[in-house]
Amino acid sequence: MERDDMRLNIQNKITLYISGILIIIFALSLWGFLSYSIGLARENIEKQQFAMTELIASSIDDKLGSYLAAIAEVGQEVKPDYFGNHEKAQAFLDEHRSLLSIFDNGMFLFDADYTLVAETPYIEGRRGIKSDRLLLFLKNVQKNDFPDISNPYLSKKSDVPAIAMAVPINDRNGRFIGFLIGSIYLTRDYFFEEVMGQKIGNNGYLYLFSTDRTMILHPDKKRILKQDVPLGANKLYDEAIEGFEGSGETINSLGVPQIASFKRLRTVDWILATAYPQDEAYSPIRRMRTSLLFAAVLITLLSIVLVWLLTRKITTSLNSFTEQVRNISEHPDVISEIHIDSNDEVTLLASTFNSLMHKLTLTRNTLEKLTRIDHLTGLFNRRHLELEAPKLISLSKRKNASTAVVLIDIDHFKNINDTVGHEAGDTVLVDLSHILQNVVRPYDLLVRYGGEEFLVLLPLSSSQEAMEFAERIRSTIQGTPISVNHEELSLTVSIGVYVAEQIHNLQEAIAYADDALYKAKNNGRNQVCQLPEINA
Ligand code: GH3
Ligand code: MG
Ligand code: MG
Repeated sequence: MERDDMRLNIQNKITLYISGILIIIFALSLWGFLSYSIGLARENIEKQQFAMTELIASSIDDKLGSYLAAIAEVGQEVKPDYFGNHEKAQAFLDEHRSLLSIFDNGMFLFDADYTLVAETPYIEGRRGIKSDRLLLFLKNVQKNDFPDISNPYLSKKSDVPAIAMAVPINDRNGRFIGFLIGSIYLTRDYFFEEVMGQKIGNNGYLYLFSTDRTMILHPDKKRILKQDVPLGANKLYDEAIEGFEGSGETINSLGVPQIASFKRLRTVDWILATAYPQDEAYSPIRRMRTSLLFAAVLITLLSIVLVWLLTRKITTSLNSFTEQVRNISEHPDVISEIHIDSNDEVTLLASTFNSLMHKLTLTRNTLEKLTRIDHLTGLFNRRHLELEAPKLISLSKRKNASTAVVLIDIDHFKNINDTVGHEAGDTVLVDLSHILQNVVRPYDLLVRYGGEEFLVLLPLSSSQEAMEFAERIRSTIQGTPISVNHEELSLTVSIGVYVAEQIHNLQEAIAYADDALYKAKNNGRNQVCQLPEINA
């Protein structure tokens, strides 16, 4: 369980780290890209809107200019005597009725006293009235001696917002004698449609106002002639009155965020404003932002999946490595090589691990061998006998032959130790081992069983063969003097033999052989004794 948790941990951790880094990178680059491109787009939109505003302003200027030129042209034809003759004046104006398509609020002749001489269309009872609303404007035109356009005013005639275009009239001597005036409705069809017909996107609009904050044209006709944008309500509006031309973000009187552009007209001291709802202006940016965000989320998710899969590829070989190592540790007797074919560091790790395991196995085998060997004589020891005997016993069993245990004990060895010393005694044990090694057959198992006791396990050996073998040992030793400290020692051994068709218990068999050895000792040593077979 713990191992599985760990496996999930590595993969999840790497996925988490890399995903975290990816998300941060994506978020940062997206943020950078968006703020840069949105800023750029915003600037662009504002520039474009201002360019359009300039264009519209210039077309309004052209229109106003052409209207002014039209009335000025008629002004050229006004004769001085018209001002003294209402009928002539009326006839003259009526002759130019075609201009009423522009000057839809009427055309007027005023004399130098600002008194109405004639108007078309004719309205009864108005001749002789004074123009008080336009007085200041007319005085100005008179002073400048040049055609001009008035600020909007409430027409006395029709009680509607209007503007007037006035042309000063002089007699042949250049003496001022009166005005020709054309008046244009601000809220009715012609001029309103001409100017307001311009399109600013779907929901944008334009309006005209004068520097005294009077609204001249506005899609909301109720606002015309009103001074309803107080100082400080709209910063850009205030700045435009101060002379600013350009675009900026603002919020209109209804609370709608807009991009507003302002351009002052040439022909008259009015300002054209275009208002474009930010909502609409920035909708392409918003769409781009949404799709970019969507793409970024998608890319991030894909990257996470990809990282997860890649990490799994890496951890798969690590996990396989762990699995194989676990197998080895659970079954240390059968050390197999670890196979990883990921062709990367894990494969290298596996091959390094394999070579380490190979060395450890060699060391272990050497150590294992050492535990089976008697270090004085170099013969196998009792431990080796216990581990190997079952194989020999089962070999005999398979071949239906009997097995013999031959136990050899040096006679009066204590005396040798006592007379020539313990070290010489050791040499004697080594020499005797060599003699024994030369006598045993390859498949016999010779071990140093105890201090000066040796044991030979003879597989596939009949009782007679075992007795002959023991006797051969006894006589060989007796006939082979061993030289110790330049002295020739003559040794004898006593041997106990036990032969059985089947040995079920090794210790028991050795005990029988020991009994036989005891008998040999008791009978005077230097002889071979065999106990009668028990399973025979
Ligand atoms: P017996 O004929 O009854 O076998 O007499 P013994 O003296 O051989 O028998 P005992 O068991 O009394 O003595 C065995 C001696 O073998 C005692 C011990 O000091 C000696 N011995 C045992 N192992 C070693 C050894 O590794 N080196 C030497 N030098 N002597 C050993
Ligand atoms: Mg002994
Ligand atoms: Mg002895």
